[in-house]
Amino acid sequence: MSTFNIGHFLTQNARRLGDHPGVIVPERTFTWLEVDRRVNRLANALANAGIRPGDRILVQARNSHRAFEVKWACFKLGAVWVPVNFRLTPAEVAYMAGHATARAIVFDSEFAEHCEAAWAELDPATLSICLDAALDGSLVYEQLLADGGESFIEVDVERDQPAWFFYTSGTAGRPKAAVLTHGQLAFVVTSHLADMFPGTSESDASLVITPLSHGAGVHALAHVARAAPQIILIGASLDPETVWETVARHRVTNFFTVPTLLKTLVEHPSVDHYDHSSLRHVNYGGAPMFRSDQAFALAKLGSVLVQHYGLGEFTANITVLSPGQHGLGSGLSDQAVGTCGVPRTGVEVAILDVDGQRLPTGETGEICARGQAAFLGYHNDPEATAKAFRYGWFHTGDLGFLDGRGFLHITGRASDMYISGGLNVYPREIEEAILDDERIDEVAVVGMPHPKWGECGVAVVVAKAGCEIAAKDVIDGLAGRIARYKFPNQVVFWPALPKSAYGKVLKREIINRLAEEHGRAA
Ligand code: AMP
Repeated sequence: MSTFNIGHFLTQNARRLGDHPGVIVPERTFTWLEVDRRVNRLANALANAGIRPGDRILVQARNSHRAFEVKWACFKLGAVWVPVNFRLTPAEVAYMAGHATARAIVFDSEFAEHCEAAWAELDPATLSICLDAALDGSLVYEQLLADGGESFIEVDVERDQPAWFFYTSGTAGRPKAAVLTHGQLAFVVTSHLADMFPGTSESDASLVITPLSHGAGVHALAHVARAAPQIILIGASLDPETVWETVARHRVTNFFTVPTLLKTLVEHPSVDHYDHSSLRHVNYGGAPMFRSDQAFALAKLGSVLVQHYGLGEFTANITVLSPGQHGLGSGLSDQAVGTCGVPRTGVEVAILDVDGQRLPTGETGEICARGQAAFLGYHNDPEATAKAFRYGWFHTGDLGFLDGRGFLHITGRASDMYISGGLNVYPREIEEAILDDERIDEVAVVGMPHPKWGECGVAVVVAKAGCEIAAKDVIDGLAGRIARYKFPNQVVFWPALPKSAYGKVLKREIINRLAEEHGRAA
């Protein structure tokens, strides 16, 4: 049986709210009708150029109205949108292009080298389309639009028809493509609207500040479904003052962010210079947000924080911590402490042991989930797919426990846990405790080999600008708060922590760097 093509959201907006602002970029505003017509033109042009349902279209671009349009044209065509993070190297993009056997590459002219590297992996008939310039050997985006007709009826799709290859960040091994489908995404949109930003309508205004290739792209889907204008900031790097100025100018009601970025935004002095009282939902997730950072953000923005927990494979759709569950100011409600919230509507969460048996309340094991928000599987990787869906549950690779009220607590990635003197240590707990010292900006605790204890913790600390702090202060600060066996046996100070293209702290890289430094010192 065929199902709702998610590209139809755009068609609905054009019909119902054609004159309403749809996409806003610094240089102009496109109404929903204009957006829809441009998307239809592109869909027609791509179809005329031989793109068929199921074909993969790789996009290597910064956020822009054009990059946004490509996503919707893919959906309407039944083609598969394959956005990659623009910060990746040409070799990484080439790997993904080959892995996805892309039929078209869409790119910004600044990424011509990436396009060339990708093209070398593909059939010579692969289309290359440059979004913002006329380059030799590539089709010019605006020219394609000029040639395509302005109406297009979405193709029929099946529930399990791939719509989006969501490449996992690749913090461990080669990136894998999680296949997101039309049926699954329709469920995710409904669930986001019910659980994360209830009451969203065309009167909202959604600011896009993180790459649409990742979580912001899912967030945007749900807001387009309710015709909320998308304000897309374009720039080489994100400037907090521009964000707050835009929030004030457009009366922005929501945006999607990640904890490190939210921290940067609320700690910037410009947060106090602009009116942000229009905000209703500031959505964050994708990495732990420490309690001290949450408290600071709540004090600045008020009760607007919404946390989600999920993975690309579960489309940010495992749990939600709503504004009311955060508590206000530094006196967070005890419900909120260290939790990522309660299971999403229609999603079940369980803590399983290695044999797939459920663990009782309060016991730590692997966080597993099931429900219609789950992806279809990894593209061309039945082995990894079977491993991810062991015992009928999606295995997240995260460790945690459910408390008596059903709130989920994440204690860390399975791969982050280390064993010291035979005891399991979960770094998150130690990191939270260390961060209570106001002189510390960021911290990561990792397990390193130790001759006596097997493994021991090393705390990598980033001090706040202008603050003096010694290793002894860090350790003394833990006294009486966590068990002694969990104390890091070494504290090192770095100017910054290594982060992924999406702002996640890269623990594997920290471990490698520490091992190297240790090797040199020996
Ligand atoms: P990705 O697929 O790149 O979005 O990464 C998913 C991983 O990010 C999860 O497996 C978690 O380790 C982490 N993560 C996502 N959301 C949260 C959250 N709310 N709190 C802590 N970690 C999170």
